[in-house]
Amino acid sequence: MRLKSLPSNKLQPLKRKSPLQVDRAKQLWKALSLRYPNAHCALNWSQPHELLIATILSAQSTDVGVNKATPALFKAFPSIEAFAKCEPSEIEPFVKTLNFWRNKAKAVVESMKMIQEVFGGKVPSTMNELLQLRGVARKTANVVLGNAFDKNDGVVVDTHVGRLSQRFGLSRESDPIKVEQDLMALFPRKNWCQLSHLLIAHGRSVCKARGNTCREDAICKEYCCEGKLKRSIR
Ligand code: SF4
Repeated sequence: MRLKSLPSNKLQPLKRKSPLQVDRAKQLWKALSLRYPNAHCALNWSQPHELLIATILSAQSTDVGVNKATPALFKAFPSIEAFAKCEPSEIEPFVKTLNFWRNKAKAVVESMKMIQEVFGGKVPSTMNELLQLRGVARKTANVVLGNAFDKNDGVVVDTHVGRLSQRFGLSRESDPIKVEQDLMALFPRKNWCQLSHLLIAHGRSVCKARGNTCREDAICKEYCCEGKLKRSIR
């Protein structure tokens, strides 16, 4: 089968960033790495297809919720083949606690079927191949490439990464693809996967989506445009 080249895989050429912007990004990277040395993917998985499934299930749901659902699911369906042979209705009872569970059950079965039939039973390890799978967009593909295959093809932009990128002045964009491109232009490629783990760690522990307290946090003080603004008003 000849694979389509998908529009979401066609990024614009990266914008050039000034040396000052790149240096600031480097300092932020250092500060976050020191603060969160153990930042890593919060989803539990042991094989690439499990990470792919967990990431599909995590859309609009918490990682904690997904981690509660997946042990029984992965036990009942221990391989790609087992998932590919089943009906979505067999998956549904395991994922009913998650948002959009019906669609997610379908996406899980269809993506595993395609892996079995088109990719020889192995999770593909390129962006374009992953994007052919149902339920997989750049964010999911980046999670799988970065964590299961150690490939830095892009940056995972979830809600935390999007929010922190704006607050830290790394991007003015709200479209995740454009935020991703800004981050790719600011940080060295080898750091792309870990960058999202670091921003997510800060998002979860200090800068929450709602009710963040803009504490007197050293990283916030130095890098957050919003925090600086609030302090100057006080
Ligand atoms: S200062 Fe406040 S808004 Fe800015 S990153 Fe810190 S917690 Fe978030």
